[in-house]
Amino acid sequence: MTSTNPIIEREPDTERWRLVLARDARADGQFVYAVQTTGVYCRPSCPARRPKRANVSFYINAYSAELAGYRPCKRCCPAAAITRDDQAVISVCQALQRALERLQRLPSAAQLAADVGLSASRLQRLFTAALGITINQYAQALRSRQVQQALAAGSAITDAILAAGYSSTGHFYQKATSELGMPARRYQRQGQTMTIEYATAQTTLGQLLVARSEVGVCAIALGDNPQSLAAELKQQFANAHRVEPSGEFEQLLQQVIALVEQPGGRSVTLPLDIRGTAFQRRVWQALQQITPGQTIHYSELAQRIGAPNSARAVANACGANKLAIAIPCHRVVRQDGSLSGYRWGVERKRELLKREAYLDLD
Ligand SMILES: [Zn+2]
Repeated sequence: MTSTNPIIEREPDTERWRLVLARDARADGQFVYAVQTTGVYCRPSCPARRPKRANVSFYINAYSAELAGYRPCKRCCPAAAITRDDQAVISVCQALQRALERLQRLPSAAQLAADVGLSASRLQRLFTAALGITINQYAQALRSRQVQQALAAGSAITDAILAAGYSSTGHFYQKATSELGMPARRYQRQGQTMTIEYATAQTTLGQLLVARSEVGVCAIALGDNPQSLAAELKQQFANAHRVEPSGEFEQLLQQVIALVEQPGGRSVTLPLDIRGTAFQRRVWQALQQITPGQTIHYSELAQRIGAPNSARAVANACGANKLAIAIPCHRVVRQDGSLSGYRWGVERKRELLKREAYLDLD
């Protein structure tokens, strides 16, 4: 979201990968890349040997990569931009991750604060400002992610719950639906046999890709060519079977095309398969309540979801949206009126807003 480079905004990950392969130093400071197999993240210009594309993910900065659990590379030192406050939040996240991995009791907020040399209230403020959730909510999200991973790997549900540190299965089931977005049993079934139908179509905003799981629409993306859109989908749902759409998919595709051509024009309720953390889903829900033709600032959106200090986390959640237009993150702009970034290209964002502004709303 912070990128100001128009090339990067056009085809984000494909373009980032090209810059990494080229060791392009001009891209330093715009993003970092992290390697799953080594747990290390680097600047785009790092001299180290290039990993396989499949093992690479991109983060907007060193801070985000550290929060995701990656360590800075010793050769290119990408962590220089991290402040002491950032470091405190990172240390807390890492301490919680370690405790969960080792199945230890989670440290208390007071203990965590003492370890980073801050008062509990100051730490809580910094943490909420950075991530949009409290330390407690973060620990819960980590637990449920551990459950998701265990379920996707096929462990028995009870084992997965207990391994994640829940004291009983009853306590977990109370939380499961809100954290996973669906009941645990269905999630497990999906992790193993998830099937995604998808198709691409030409629109006046370029190529459109629409994908649907058994639950609902799970991806809507815009881009310049259908092959790279399909490649991104493949990366996003690596374990799913991707199949050609059945006959009735055409109707859904037409609805989404209508959404692109006349965003917010007629209210269509698409069944959505929304995957994200509890915080991201709160942000995305608030986005869906913005009237077409109107825009909002990140800080206003943060206020609307009751987390006024989390504008930065809200911006990250907007950037993580995988459902173009259906979750209208294009309606969020910077305080100074500039458009900010857009996963599918800032020119497309401008055009969507223009189309909505000319709508006849009655
Ligand atoms: Zn490096």
